[in-house]
Amino acid sequence: MADACVPAPPEKAAPSVAELSDDEIFAQIVAGKLKEHALEATLGDCARATRLRRRWLEKEVGTMPEGLPHEGFDYESVLGACAEMVVGYVPLPVGVAGPLTVNGKAYQVPMATVEGCLIASARRGMKAITSSGGAQAAVLKQGMTRAPVIFFPSAMRAAALKSWIEEPENFATMKGWFESTSRFAKLKSCAVTVAGLHAYPRFVCFTGDAMGMNMVSKGVNNVLEQLEQHAGFDDMRVLGLSGNMCCDKKPAAINWVEGRGCSVVVEATITGKVVRETLKTTVEAMIELNTAKNLVGSAMAGAVGGFNAHAANIVAAVFIATGQDAAQVVESANCITLLAAANGGEDLHISCTMPSIEVGTVGGGTILKPQRACLELLGVAGAAKDEPGAHARALAMVVAGAVLAGELSLLAALSAGHLMKAHMALNRKPAAAPAPAPAVNVE
Ligand code: ADP
Repeated sequence: MADACVPAPPEKAAPSVAELSDDEIFAQIVAGKLKEHALEATLGDCARATRLRRRWLEKEVGTMPEGLPHEGFDYESVLGACAEMVVGYVPLPVGVAGPLTVNGKAYQVPMATVEGCLIASARRGMKAITSSGGAQAAVLKQGMTRAPVIFFPSAMRAAALKSWIEEPENFATMKGWFESTSRFAKLKSCAVTVAGLHAYPRFVCFTGDAMGMNMVSKGVNNVLEQLEQHAGFDDMRVLGLSGNMCCDKKPAAINWVEGRGCSVVVEATITGKVVRETLKTTVEAMIELNTAKNLVGSAMAGAVGGFNAHAANIVAAVFIATGQDAAQVVESANCITLLAAANGGEDLHISCTMPSIEVGTVGGGTILKPQRACLELLGVAGAAKDEPGAHARALAMVVAGAVLAGELSLLAALSAGHLMKAHMALNRKPAAAPAPAPAVNVE
C-alpha cells in the first residue's frame, strides 16, 4: 500500500556520449554508431576528438606513427574553419629573413620552409637591397575574381548576357546586388567570355583585407539569382559557381595578363659595391644571366608567368608562415624579373612584376595563432583600421620584396659560380676569383 504511494524514482537518463569513457566511445566508433568525422560535434572537446580519431586511424591502417604530434595544439580554432578529420599537426620550422626595407619600412619576414639555405639566401638578398637604400613597391591593382559558368540554350543568349552585363547601367544594378552581400565587397568590373553555349562572367571585386574568395563567391551567388529572376535570363543554367576562368589554383594566362588579388611591382637599385661585396658577382654577369635564363630560357620553355628564378620558393614560405592559402602559390608566384644596368653601368636595377599575389590578413588560416603571430611580426595582422585593404596590400608588397631578394641572391649565386669557373680556367688562381656565396643556390 505504502509502496504504491511512493513515486517511482525517475529513470536515470542515459549518459551523453561525452560522459562515456574513451574506451566506450571508441567501441561506438568501431561499431559504426558514432561517425569518426563527427567527434568534435558530439564530444564538444576537440583535443579529445583528435585523440580518439587517432585510435580510430590506428585501427584503420594498423599504425599511428608517433612522429605525428597532437598535443599542445589549439584544435578549437581549426574547427569549422581550417580542417576536418584532424589527427594532429605538422610542425614546420619558421625562420626570419631581414631586414628587408620596402617603401622605407624595415621588415623581418617570417618564412616557413623545409628547404635548407632558402632563408639564408633570401636574407642575403635583403641585405643587398637594404644596404643599397631599400626597395620601392606599388600595388597596381587589387581585386579578387570569380567566374561562374552559365549555360544557355543558344550562343545568342550567351552573347545577350555579355551585352547586358557590359552595359554600364546594368553593371551598376549588378554592383548593388553584389555589394548587398558584404560590408567590404566592392564590385569593380565584370567582363564576360562566351564559348558557344557557355558564358563566363569574370567578377573582379575589392575584398578589403580578406583574400576574398568566400566574399566574392557570396556576391556572385546573389548576382546569379538576380540575373535569373529579375533581368530576363530565366533560361540561364548555372553549371558551376566557378567555371575556371577565375582562375583559382591552376596555371592560367588570364591571371598573368589580367591580374588577380594584388598586382605588385617592386624595384631596387643595387650599388655596384654591394653587387661585388655582398653578392660576390658583377652587374654584367647578373644581367647576362637574367636575360639568358629568366627571359630567353623561360620563353623557350613556353612559360606563362614563370619569368623568374624561384619566386615560388619565397612565396610559398611566406604564405605558409602567415596563414595564406598555400594552393594559391600557383598563381601568386607569377613573376617577371628584369635586370638592367643603372648609373652608367656601375649599379644594377632589378624589378619583379607580380600580377597575381593573393593574400589576406583576415579570414582563412590567418585566424590561427601562430600564423597570426607571423602577421603581427610584419605589423599587418587583422583588418587595417583606417583603410580596408591596406594590410593585405602591405603584405603583398612584402611578399614581392622578399621575392626580389630571393631573385637577387639566386641569380648572384648562379652567376658567381659561373664567374668563378671562368676565372679558374683562365688564371688557375681560385683565390683571386670572386668567391661564390656558400650554399645559396636553392632553386
Ligand atoms: P575570404 O573571403 O578571404 O575567404 P573570409 O570570408 O573567411 O575570407 O573572411 C572575411 C571576413 O572578415 C568577412 O566576414 C568580413 O566581413 C570580415 N572582415 C573584417 N574586417 C575586414 C576587412 N578589413 N576586410 C575584409 N574583410 C573583413
